[in-house]
Amino acid sequence: MKSRYSLLLGRPFGIKVSVHWTFSLLIAWIVLISVGRGLETPQILMHILFVLALFVCVVLHELGHSLAAIRLGGEVHSITLLPIGGMAHMSKMPDKPRDEFLVSAAGPLVNVVIAFLLWLYISTIQRISIEDMEFQAITTQNFALMLMAANLFIVAFNLIPAFPMDGGRLFRSALSMKLSRLKATQIAKDIGQIFAILFIVAGLFVNPFLVIIGIFILLGAKGEYEMIKYQEILRDTTVKDIVKTEFAELDENNTLG
Ligand SMILES: [Zn+2]
Repeated sequence: MKSRYSLLLGRPFGIKVSVHWTFSLLIAWIVLISVGRGLETPQILMHILFVLALFVCVVLHELGHSLAAIRLGGEVHSITLLPIGGMAHMSKMPDKPRDEFLVSAAGPLVNVVIAFLLWLYISTIQRISIEDMEFQAITTQNFALMLMAANLFIVAFNLIPAFPMDGGRLFRSALSMKLSRLKATQIAKDIGQIFAILFIVAGLFVNPFLVIIGIFILLGAKGEYEMIKYQEILRDTTVKDIVKTEFAELDENNTLG
């Protein structure tokens, strides 16, 4: 993502965290839907606050991936927040299967920890039983519970083996332990693309964001597969293969042809 389309939020651990301008479309969409449902201003603000809290969790998720990657020798340039989630831009990514497994698992693990902390808060400090909560809108009462549920949803959704989503990366790294990296990526890519098409079709009926996520997966899977393919080709190619070593001798009577 080009930085001129994004607003810099901060630099935790030296990683640039910024939010993409399209994020404002998400807020506008929430306001529109809330108004359509006849909610009042305080309730609408509560919904916006909830989405912002959720995206703090998404930043922490991406920081989880990033810090794990840095620890294993990777380089992380920035994290960008999009309406469909966060994206960490790594200029160097650990590519040993075990390291990739750890980096991919670190993100969802952060949301498990957040969900656990929210559960502790709900059960020890808040002490409201679920039966007494209202769920028509997000309120101060159900805020923590809804945020906990959303974090668990992030975990479950990310673990779908739709490469290049986290679950797909976990799957690829597991395959890489037995197969070549190229073959593992190809299988993960094919399965990822099947999920992407399912997301797009389901999204048309359920939620437009799912369509966008599906398109991202479709393009991302193909892009990463091509990248690995060229890496493999370049690795096995010697200078001799790409530099012409035989030259025909010419004399001045040869035609241009
Ligand atoms: Zn992730």
